[in-house]
Amino acid sequence: MSVPAQLFGPSSGSACLNRRILMSDRYKCVLLFGAPGTGKGTQGKLLGEKDGYIHLATGDIFRSLDKETELGKKFLHYSSRGELVPDDLTIELWRDHVGSLISAGKYDPARDLLLLDGMPRSVPQAERLSDLIEPLAIVHLVVPDINDMVKRMKLRAEKEGRHDDADENVIRNRFDVYTNETAPVLGCYGKELVIDIDAIGTIDEVFDRCQSKVTPIHEKSFG
Ligand code: ADP
Repeated sequence: MSVPAQLFGPSSGSACLNRRILMSDRYKCVLLFGAPGTGKGTQGKLLGEKDGYIHLATGDIFRSLDKETELGKKFLHYSSRGELVPDDLTIELWRDHVGSLISAGKYDPARDLLLLDGMPRSVPQAERLSDLIEPLAIVHLVVPDINDMVKRMKLRAEKEGRHDDADENVIRNRFDVYTNETAPVLGCYGKELVIDIDAIGTIDEVFDRCQSKVTPIHEKSFG
């Protein structure tokens, strides 16, 4: 897959710069990025506990759907194979969810930093969200050994009863989907936005590394 043109960042040209100025009211966010099992959800939840941060995990939004609804069934269909839910459905659900958080007073774009976990997860999703979100950084959790990630996912399957973590073939497919569809999203944004974080260590150690990068971003944007 070819690397897409950058959507943001200083080297992305004046057209994008103008666009950025015009779109200063986009949702300010940090993207939590990494292969399955690197701990995005764990770290996102911890970071999201602090005042002024909202952790938004697309997988959690899907899992909260009623399994008897059309959308709930579609989610099960794709996730049980380790595949992504089609972009149209995902974007619509995500936009509606953010809209309902704002209406309910649970998310205030003027004071809260969104920690996006599992969004965007493909280049078309990054393009479709470009007029809605303003990524200030991409926290990229890195675990070099795939076997460590598989181990973490099997543990999670036992603890959380996640159907998509229980089957090794499904897990392998999720890594392929990550490599082919999600990893290219990194190329949509300027390299200077990407912060690689070593995700090996205890939850607290990795949290400290994430927090030390994300806190200054929050302070700079929201004071
Ligand atoms: P993990 O981070 O462990 O890979 P998630 O909980 O984020 O898992 O996602 C579980 C499943 O939800 C994915 O395998 C996929 O089917 C669906 N999903 C989550 N986010 C997206 C997205 N942005 N686009 C399409 N499908 C998604």
